[in-house]
Amino acid sequence: AIPGKHEYSIACMPADGIGPEVIGAGVEVLKTMSEASSGAFTFQFEDYDWSSDTYKKLGKYIPDGGLEDLRRHDAILFGAVGAPDVPDHISLWGLRLAICQPFQQYANVRPTKILRGTESPLRKAKTGDLDWVIIRENSEGEYAGQGGRSHRGQPWETSTEVSIFTRHCVERLIRFAFEIAQKRPKKHITVVTKSNAQRNGMVMWDEIAYEVAKDFPDVQMDKMLVDAMTCRMVLQPNSIDTIVATNLHADILSDLAAALAGSIGIAPTSNLDPTRKNPSMFEPIHGSAFDITGKGVANPVGTFWTAAEMLRWLGEEQAADVLMECIEKVCEAGILTRDLGGTAGTKEVTNAVCEEVRKAY
Ligand code: ATP
Ligand code: MG
Repeated sequence: AIPGKHEYSIACMPADGIGPEVIGAGVEVLKTMSEASSGAFTFQFEDYDWSSDTYKKLGKYIPDGGLEDLRRHDAILFGAVGAPDVPDHISLWGLRLAICQPFQQYANVRPTKILRGTESPLRKAKTGDLDWVIIRENSEGEYAGQGGRSHRGQPWETSTEVSIFTRHCVERLIRFAFEIAQKRPKKHITVVTKSNAQRNGMVMWDEIAYEVAKDFPDVQMDKMLVDAMTCRMVLQPNSIDTIVATNLHADILSDLAAALAGSIGIAPTSNLDPTRKNPSMFEPIHGSAFDITGKGVANPVGTFWTAAEMLRWLGEEQAADVLMECIEKVCEAGILTRDLGGTAGTKEVTNAVCEEVRKAY
């Protein structure tokens, strides 16, 4: 992007399952926003068909030179990867992590709140409301891919899954999380670890958190063990604002958060390179959902919210706010997919959001 030009080149990678349905809907909404704003910002979408089908045909997800080509874009809009006949660890490492790692997208950011017009188990339980952002370490930790197996198939087969925590990576992530917390009204962060049972890496996390906290005197920090944190998320949701945790812990907490907010179909996630040297990648949190693929019932809201997060990262704050408002208006009008208790299909929700977008400008 050229500063001040508001022209963005977006790589679209729908990949597997409902990916093409929700990314198609997302692109339609973004195009509508650009038109409705009379070209205040414009997008050039370029399609990438890297998927589990490519893998099954060619034995790899990413063609030679693919990553260098992908690097030209301002952002990547990603659907979901995973297919019933490809082991999950192959598809995850073959595509998603194969982009996140070389592009140094070390911060995974997951905002969660209950959208107006939707129901959530927390509302029903009356324990409180939720408005959180979870920052997940996205480059190492438990998902470093280190370890091995020996004596395969024998009763004495042994495997190791080694977590790697480096001061450099932990510090940059915690610092980024404090910066996010500082910009939010509550200025509160919870650092989540498991430093009672895991006495090396997790204790280092705690120490680094206390060090970084000194540079943010206006941000209030507390520290929780991950097991206790799950209870607190359910029982005292109001006491939480920004959460920072390891790759594994935040992965689990964010699925809990999505469920507490009402549906996995609404939540977005951003894989950010905070240095902005590489494009960042934006995706709905849900997976490829083959059980509903091709039925036209996938909830596109997760992708719309993802698009709003992408706009925010690109500097189009106002457009991001407009889009969020339009999404919530459509939810309030009761135009909801089945996962949110409604009867609308993907197309109906998409049309309704586009209609709100046209009204908003
Ligand atoms: P993956 O292995 O790719 O993560 P999965 O099937 O394990 O896929 P999800 O794809 O996230 O996990 O699906 C979990 C459940 O949530 C499924 O029953 C699916 O139908 C439902 N679901 C996921 N995304 C949506 C959506 N956008 N709209 C409606 N339902 C959804
Ligand atoms: Mg899954």
